[in-house]
Amino acid sequence: MNQTDVQHTSLHAAMLEMGHEQVVFSSDPKTGLKTIIAIHDTTLGPSLGGVRMWPYADEASALRDVLRLSRGMTYKSAVSGLDLGGGKAVIIGNPATDKSEALFNSFGRIVDGLCGRYITAEDVGMTEVEMDWISKTTPYVTGKSRENGGMGAPSPITAFGVYMGMKAAAKQAYGNDSLEGKRIAIQGAGHVAEILADYLAKEKAVLFISDIFVEKAHTVASRTGAQVVEADAILEIQADIFSPNALGAVINDASIPRLTCSVIAGGANNVLDNPVRHGKELQNRGILYAPDYVVNAGGIMHVYSELVGEAEDWSMKRAESIYETTLKVFKRAEEEQITPGEASDRIAEEQIQARKNHA
Ligand code: NAD
Repeated sequence: MNQTDVQHTSLHAAMLEMGHEQVVFSSDPKTGLKTIIAIHDTTLGPSLGGVRMWPYADEASALRDVLRLSRGMTYKSAVSGLDLGGGKAVIIGNPATDKSEALFNSFGRIVDGLCGRYITAEDVGMTEVEMDWISKTTPYVTGKSRENGGMGAPSPITAFGVYMGMKAAAKQAYGNDSLEGKRIAIQGAGHVAEILADYLAKEKAVLFISDIFVEKAHTVASRTGAQVVEADAILEIQADIFSPNALGAVINDASIPRLTCSVIAGGANNVLDNPVRHGKELQNRGILYAPDYVVNAGGIMHVYSELVGEAEDWSMKRAESIYETTLKVFKRAEEEQITPGEASDRIAEEQIQARKNHA
């Protein structure tokens, strides 16, 4: 669908077109909470996906984000072989100034009302602290602190999975998966990017990093030897690999002509503003795109392991499989003459259809 146009159509029309089962709008005047929870598809299991707190310009932007992100979670879990459906929540607010325990307790009560159809976790703007607050009012939360019976933040496993996906993309693009000497431009210096940068530095890649909060980029640079770049300039760095690890839609009509890389692989969700058109445009330009939800699935593997009580090292081992899954996606794309994004969508849809056929 034209996922940019939710505001020009009815919500039901958007839900039907994108395949959503349920969208819940909630507010709490006492705490100032304004939240939207989207449950996309529960064929494979309960919907699981993080809660994002962001100062959205308006409600339509928040809705568009939660619809796209929840759909992405369905595909991410399906392509990764997890028994989970896709869901996501957004809280409209500024994570720097609007967080309070009462607000997250209130959010937890709303999640609890969905009786396990939606299970929440960390996303942008969140830490274990908020997950612990949420856990006071609902059991349907993952990513809690170890002191509170959880397995800690998912971002280290996400970062490892992105590293695996990037190596697979290098193998596909350059014939071997070594990243030594590769020039890698990292956008964002948050939880995922900082650990990804550690792996890449260990492999002796040549790193460039940017963040809108430049001090975060300097912190990562000080221990990895990366060169700090202005946020606006990171797309134009002469690089082999561009790694988006900030927000979505960074690959768009304006940014594609500025790209110098031959591979894109990063942790951010919804990297392509228009998945079909921009996927094709990258392919036409000879840029290999490792689909976002394939390479950033380490985090969902980690929270899944917390949910079902797997051993401590399960998610790290599972995230290693992202290397093979990414190669499988590229192979399918080649065989069927489609983009990697279309290939991963097909693999995910087949998983879901197979379960429906057995139901
Ligand atoms: P984070 O909030 O810790 O880091 C994001 C960073 O991006 C912040 O430092 C922010 O200042 C920076 N940023 C925002 N806009 C920017 C811009 N235009 N240029 C440069 N920097 C910018 O979030 P995170 O947990 O590291 O997640 C990063 C991305 O990965 C998000 O898109 C998230 O949805 C996705 N993701 C995260 C996980 C996880 O386990 N944390 C799992 C899957 C996907």
